[in-house]
Amino acid sequence: MISSYLFGPVPSRRLGASLGVDLIPYKTCSYDCVYCECGPTTNHTCRRMEYVPTGEVIAALDTCLSASPALDYITFAGSGEPTLHSRIGEIIAFVKERYPEYRIAVLTNGSLLSDRRVRDAVLSSDLILPSMDAASEEIFRQINRPCAELTCAAVLSGLRALAEEYSGEILLEIFIVPGLNDSPEELALLREAVDSIEPVRVQINTLDRPGVEAWVRPASPASLEGIAALFGAPDGAEVIVPAAARESTAGFRQDIPATILATLARRPCTADDLSQIAGVHRNEISKYLLVLQEEGRIEAVREKRGIFFRLT
Ligand code: SF4
Repeated sequence: MISSYLFGPVPSRRLGASLGVDLIPYKTCSYDCVYCECGPTTNHTCRRMEYVPTGEVIAALDTCLSASPALDYITFAGSGEPTLHSRIGEIIAFVKERYPEYRIAVLTNGSLLSDRRVRDAVLSSDLILPSMDAASEEIFRQINRPCAELTCAAVLSGLRALAEEYSGEILLEIFIVPGLNDSPEELALLREAVDSIEPVRVQINTLDRPGVEAWVRPASPASLEGIAALFGAPDGAEVIVPAAARESTAGFRQDIPATILATLARRPCTADDLSQIAGVHRNEISKYLLVLQEEGRIEAVREKRGIFFRLT
């Protein structure tokens, strides 16, 4: 780990070698999604503020990027909703000005995009990956469990406003929660919303490790493919599947899976335990855990004290 604000580079399913920038304390978010793999939201808020010192984040980025690391993206993501940081725009602007050779991605739940200042803050990024899991108020509340002041209609209008103003690429993610947003009615509304936003691509995702709520189940591959076929976008829709040969991605550290496997051979651990033992950010360890799960070498089990990982 380079600093407590940066993690990686991690091998990302969607972004290749990605240096993560985490501007939000765990776990601060405007949503409390039933499927969240980071755990329950403990600071449920729409309040934008300087959650971590902007100067320290910029200094950490400067130190890291001055060594010219091989990266596909610098990605604003992490332990919650990154646009809650009130100075995210200054940090993006710093990278763009000082290190224009790097591409910037912003992973966001899209909840604050109806605020003009939030859109302005992210306009100079190269890629925005908002999520949009519902297009009706009822399903929005059931899946994303937003702060009381957020409405589905406002979130959708923020996404449409972003699409009009933004010159970079928008990849829209829809997380399918069977029984909630896979009904013909909700999918028709989602399709309408996608058509009005016109993202470059729609990415269909589902649970691949235990989420916050035990009742959330993954959608089957066949149903995901069927849903993906419903969406039109210039590049169509795709189901997010495990990246092939992630180990070959720049930034993939072989020592971290080895540490995880050696630790789990002794006892099951949570992601937080493993993050501390391996000395890497929680988000970074999560990526490696995902690779090991996809390889069938470890599994996640829900226990009273949380999600534990163990050898298969
Ligand atoms: S928006 Fe993301 S971080 Fe926030 S609760 Fe939902 S999945 Fe978790």
